[in-house]
Amino acid sequence: MDLFSIYRQLGLSEAVWSLGDRITTGLQERFREIDAVAEYNQAKVLAAMQECRIGANHFAATTGYGYNDDGRERLEQVYAKVFHCEAALVRPQITCGTHALTVALSANLLPGDELLSPVGLPYDTLQEVIGIRPSPCSLAEYGVTYRQADLKEDGSFDYDAIRAAINERTRLITIQRSKGYATRPSFTVEQIGELIAFCKSVKPDVICMVDNCYGEFVETIEPTDVGADMAVGSLIKNPGGGLAPIGGYICGTKACVDRCAYRLSAPGLGQEVGANLGILPAFYQGFFLAPTVTAGALKGAIFAAHLYESLGYRCIPSANAVRADIIQAVELGSEAAMVAFCKGIQAAAPVDSFAAPEPWDMPGYDDPVIMAAGAFVQGSSIELSADGPIRPPYAVYFQGGLTWQHAKLGILMSLQKMVDAGLVAL
Ligand SMILES: *Cc1c(COP(=O)(O)O)cnc(C)c1O
Repeated sequence: MDLFSIYRQLGLSEAVWSLGDRITTGLQERFREIDAVAEYNQAKVLAAMQECRIGANHFAATTGYGYNDDGRERLEQVYAKVFHCEAALVRPQITCGTHALTVALSANLLPGDELLSPVGLPYDTLQEVIGIRPSPCSLAEYGVTYRQADLKEDGSFDYDAIRAAINERTRLITIQRSKGYATRPSFTVEQIGELIAFCKSVKPDVICMVDNCYGEFVETIEPTDVGADMAVGSLIKNPGGGLAPIGGYICGTKACVDRCAYRLSAPGLGQEVGANLGILPAFYQGFFLAPTVTAGALKGAIFAAHLYESLGYRCIPSANAVRADIIQAVELGSEAAMVAFCKGIQAAAPVDSFAAPEPWDMPGYDDPVIMAAGAFVQGSSIELSADGPIRPPYAVYFQGGLTWQHAKLGILMSLQKMVDAGLVAL
């Protein structure tokens, strides 16, 4: 059977497939650059694992308190080496990215301190953590105030506004690398480095934390290479490589990470407790695969941008833009198009391909959200997935794909469903 016969069986029409083929042909130079970054990052991870002398004995399960868990401690050393920082907290007890960020913030902010976001409104779930939207146990309830400097019209940093916002109470500055559900640009590590340098020139002892979600391994450097005191993210995104079934990480200075460990477990206990429950092989192997998995997802994002731009849709980032994360937003202009797009992503999945996604009121989000994910790990967004809040400009956020080939099929299926619904004519 030839390839297109299989694709036809999966529901693709010849028109969509051949458009996809033409787009792919034009992307080979771009893909070579992505492969070069993946090769660099693969070497970086491998070197860290060898330096830490990882052995099969480090995959053993521990239970109970988890004292002297060498496998857990070495994994944290591997992360610290890859991120070129003093310490790391990498745990299955960190339930998700929002939790990791909550630990990092609440551990390093005390009553009377102020938190500053110099990059506009943070990610939806963080708004309740901070108390921008009132919520029980928010930082606001504990007497931590919040200030924000918005980006300029063109998406660049408003240095005057940032300087004016920093005051004697500013303790921690949170910088979100990826755009999240906003249509602003994501930031490159170099841009983040410039922002951190500026903030520290205004207030040298301020803590700079980067929400690194979706950014890991997109470039050869990470925020901790350019002065971030903490980089924080989720293991069901890039660094878990699709294998980690849960978890989050915080990498950074020993002073900051120690406090995070005390906040996560208990004062006095910190990093010394936390049984691994047998999960370490997935954490190690996922981290080992993460550079190539991220590269595949990145190829999918670039392919999607080229495909949808060729059909006249606004894509953020635009097709030829420099990439700072694996997220691709496509402004579809209507709820119907968002639903069709997500149905296509779902229909391409290895798991739950028969399900039809619908908008729902998801905890932590202000508007109904539609999500398509047929993932091996529930909610994993390093696996092929698409989501977005149902609000103008009806942008769908596409990300992931454990392999480039699967990402490509998923994106073609999204277009197929829009064609089938009469929303696009080829
Ligand atoms: C996904 C994400 C989060 C939250 O992570 P969860 O694992 O969904 O809790 C925070 N910030 C950004 C930028 C994200 O993309």
